[in-house]
Amino acid sequence: MDFLTLFGVYVVTVLTCIVLVCKYAGQEQTALGRNYTRVINTFSPYAPSWLRSLFNRAVHRLFHERNNLFIYLHLLLEGAVYTEYSYEVFGYSREMDTTLTNLYIPYGLLALHLCLFYLCCSRDPGTVTKAKHATQVKVYPYDGELFHPGENCPTCNLVKPARSKHCRVCNRCVQRFDHHCVWVNNCVGAQNTRYFLLYLLSVCAMAGDIAILTLDLLLNVVVRTGLMHAHYVDADGQQQPTGFAFVVQHLFLTFPRIVFMLGFLIFVFFLLAGYFLFHLVLAVGNHTSNEWYKARGRGCQHCHPYSGHRCRPSFNPLRGFYNRGVLKNLREIFVPLKPLRKKKHK
Ligand SMILES: [Zn+2]
Ligand SMILES: [Zn+2]
Repeated sequence: MDFLTLFGVYVVTVLTCIVLVCKYAGQEQTALGRNYTRVINTFSPYAPSWLRSLFNRAVHRLFHERNNLFIYLHLLLEGAVYTEYSYEVFGYSREMDTTLTNLYIPYGLLALHLCLFYLCCSRDPGTVTKAKHATQVKVYPYDGELFHPGENCPTCNLVKPARSKHCRVCNRCVQRFDHHCVWVNNCVGAQNTRYFLLYLLSVCAMAGDIAILTLDLLLNVVVRTGLMHAHYVDADGQQQPTGFAFVVQHLFLTFPRIVFMLGFLIFVFFLLAGYFLFHLVLAVGNHTSNEWYKARGRGCQHCHPYSGHRCRPSFNPLRGFYNRGVLKNLREIFVPLKPLRKKKHK
């Protein structure tokens, strides 16, 4: 396989991952999501009806109904990265004298990550049920802006507790609803936000650690072989000094799977680190993604996330009705509030 073909496969794969992760990481109405919807709406009238119906059914099945596809995809990607790491990076790094302790750290992170992933997928996010409704409705007061007393969920046929939302995918109301995450096939709510934040952190740690070990390996190869100061013979038979571009191309062709994995890990690291920081800022101010999303839609009568019109975002992460101070806000993530504590609120 020549360099251009390999590079083309690489770019297409990474771009596909970007689209999938951005659109379905949880917030459906990101700028990318809106553009995606626009493109689909533009081209769908030209597609045959059977193709449109097949596409709509597939999208509905994949993203609007609970299913484990993204959990399998998630495990498959992790399996591929760890197989490559164990199969090639580990052995080469040993030859470059990297210590065993450093090389075993990714396995420790993987064990921790799988525990958190399991907890994210399996723990109840805080489903509002008839049996618990009387207490659930007393946990948070209504702010009168985003949440109003007496609002009914027509599907669950229950008065919505403040900060709750009905998840269309899971078909249930969830306390302190944050978002529905397809990657864990579960809602993120009052009872599992702590696992979700730690899970994001564990993915960043895994991706970052393996990326650093891989970079260290490739730098060692470049230094030990003296690639930066070598020469090559071009098509005209002239000797040319190797530059950065030549070294990158050489590494790509010599270690295609390792360089491929490194690019993917760097992408995952920066994407999820940004996503984690976004959630951390929300947690520090005691907001949820759902509240952030709803608050941004407020402004003038035309301001609505779906219309694409927004005159002035009214969301301030440091101020808010439920903000009780940084430490108490963070504590609330790890020890969800109980109704008995209601009087202490504010
Ligand atoms: Zn509901
Ligand atoms: Zn859900």
